[in-house]
Amino acid sequence: MIDKNDFLVIAGPCAVESRDQVFRIAKLVKKNGISFFRGGAYKPRTSPYSFQGLEQEGLHILKEVGQKCELKIVTEVTDTDLIDEIAKHVDILQIGTRNMANYALLKKVGKLTARTHQPVLLKRGFSSTIEEWLLAAEYITKAGNPDVILCERGIRTFESATRYTLDLNAIPVVKKLSSLPIIIDPSHGTGHSDMVIPLSKAAVAVGADGVILEVHDRPKEALCDGKQSLDEEEFRNFMAEIRKIAEVEGKKVV
Ligand code: PEP
Ligand code: MN
Repeated sequence: MIDKNDFLVIAGPCAVESRDQVFRIAKLVKKNGISFFRGGAYKPRTSPYSFQGLEQEGLHILKEVGQKCELKIVTEVTDTDLIDEIAKHVDILQIGTRNMANYALLKKVGKLTARTHQPVLLKRGFSSTIEEWLLAAEYITKAGNPDVILCERGIRTFESATRYTLDLNAIPVVKKLSSLPIIIDPSHGTGHSDMVIPLSKAAVAVGADGVILEVHDRPKEALCDGKQSLDEEEFRNFMAEIRKIAEVEGKKVV
């Protein structure tokens, strides 16, 4: 799905909170020339007391925003029972870090998307080795869908200054071992909005094929992951910085 000279940017809120919130943020990202929008309808939260997502209603909102704003939509599939329904509403299916080793989910997503030709964005498990992650990707390719996008989203280390440790080493390692595209998620990988731009620039330089990041027009009011979300001005700066370094690397931001 990603041309070797493209640098893919997928932006949007952590969670779909309301129709109004999604449309506001979609317009904001669209204004910056972005065509891929992220947003979680089913949220796999560490705490069962945290906001769990708008679920089915969230899917309807995502489909509507995709059509009205001409955006390709990325959302997470958390459960084998939800795959068909989610696939009808969005363009790219995301498998989150907590489900990277859910082999029943990988097989079923692989089988369905082999028919629908939808790309699958596979996050790295936060305690998984690169080898385990690449083998997880093979569950999808073996089921008939070669269109897998790997996403390095940070691993758990002894370091507690950041939410996770974004493993930029993974990019050249994956480039050596696999022909699949690899993008990074600096929002979850660091947990801090002020680290998103520098790490994204580093990712372009080290050979990544793109970035998925969280953007919210009112980060302080976000129901999920506000601290790591860029606001409108920060996102504008992000785009300007990424375009500059992508050009140096001979890549086009898409
Ligand atoms: C997300 O991208 O919404 C998400 C929950 O990410 P991760 O699976 O990397 O934690
Ligand atoms: Mn999030």
